[in-house]
Amino acid sequence: MDNLSETIKYLQGKKVRFADAREHLFHERELHTEDTRVEQITEQNVSGVGIKVLYENGWGYASTSAKDMDSLRQTADKALALAKYADKTAAAKVVLAAEPKHVAKFATKIKEDPFAVDVSDAVGALLEAGEIILKGKDVIKANSYLVLRNMRKKYANTEGSLIETDVFTILPQIEATARANGEVKSRHYWPAPMNSGYEYFRGLDFKTNAERIAAQAREHCFAKSCETGPTTLILDPEHLSLTMHESVGHPTELDRVLGYEESCAGRSFATMEKLNTFKYGSEIVNLVADNTLEGGLASCGYDDEGVECQKWHIIKDGILAGYGVNRELAHKMKMARANGTTRATKYSDVPITRMPNLYLAPGKGPLTREQLIADTEDGIYIEGMGSFSIDQMRLNMQFGGDAFWEIKKGKLTGMLKNVTYNAISYEFWRSCDAIADESAFRRAGFITCGKGDPMQAAQMTHGASPARFRNIMVRRAK
Ligand SMILES: [Zn+2]
Repeated sequence: MDNLSETIKYLQGKKVRFADAREHLFHERELHTEDTRVEQITEQNVSGVGIKVLYENGWGYASTSAKDMDSLRQTADKALALAKYADKTAAAKVVLAAEPKHVAKFATKIKEDPFAVDVSDAVGALLEAGEIILKGKDVIKANSYLVLRNMRKKYANTEGSLIETDVFTILPQIEATARANGEVKSRHYWPAPMNSGYEYFRGLDFKTNAERIAAQAREHCFAKSCETGPTTLILDPEHLSLTMHESVGHPTELDRVLGYEESCAGRSFATMEKLNTFKYGSEIVNLVADNTLEGGLASCGYDDEGVECQKWHIIKDGILAGYGVNRELAHKMKMARANGTTRATKYSDVPITRMPNLYLAPGKGPLTREQLIADTEDGIYIEGMGSFSIDQMRLNMQFGGDAFWEIKKGKLTGMLKNVTYNAISYEFWRSCDAIADESAFRRAGFITCGKGDPMQAAQMTHGASPARFRNIMVRRAK
């Protein structure tokens, strides 16, 4: 911490309004096996220091891969020079929301350091899953993946905060592809990516799931096409993770709402005057942001502005209730404090507002997944993520899925293929009329959420219980 504190002291001597310095190690190992061979093992270790300076009303950011004091002073000077330059053309006064001083440490709770386990252990498990998949009838391809990540940060700022964080992430995936009946179809098993130790990977049941996805990939080849027209959908937690990510998570990032992301990721229909009044969903829809969630991919204790991670509602009882807000924009919301969701992926990246862990709260009454299906006369049950698109205002959206079943008289009667549905995002959430209880709650998430320019890939958890949506327009994709 000494060099960071020294750098901050150096900048304080230069009359900056605010400055922080972040030492950031990004360590990632990626394994990919295809059929019965290792396709790729990559390892990256990227580390350095990013320094952010506010001078009057101008921001500057500079970074270096060196950590000696001479390099840090030079980098601090560079950030300061940029801030002074930006101040000359500053359009408005920068109002920085207050944050208590934190002298703290945060670490993902792990039992076994994933990077301390010999790589052959994970390779063996992935190859074994591949072998089981390849035993499936008409299966032509097996793919297995594992991503291990460790992000270690030290943070110091001019307000006296000194924070150390150590976050471990695991993302496993397996996939089967079958060819039969003139079709080629894939099916995946994506257990929730988690901030966890290697024990999570050891606890996964690849055998049962490898057999299941191999059989379902083939079954999908024989499925009948869906009918075009409005119908009822029941969506599983993994599928809903993508839907909420695109139609609620991104539109409620305040920087995006205010146009700061327009040239890259787009804007948002969920503008500030809609807060606390706009009916984003039906009354049973509650979407909760929670960066304190244990094992959540965005749970890092403190964000890259030195703000403590928090929990709040994005949608409460169907009404737009909050945004992801950084320290600079909090005053526009009349918020005294940012909500701790500003993150950078690597040391050279400027921290930006990133989606928090975001989940659909389970239904309040007792309702299992099976009861939800049994309670549905006609419709389609969708599992997993597939293709998607959504416009730059996050209104008009279209989703596929990984696997589809027809529901007839409360029963799953067989697989369907070529299913896509489209909707206006808030009309979709308004049409939600049932959510299964917490016994059916499952997590999913992403480590590749793209935002910013240059683009940064961030990670966050999602979750849901299966939920039902009425009168959704389904189209045959072929
Ligand atoms: Zn995203």
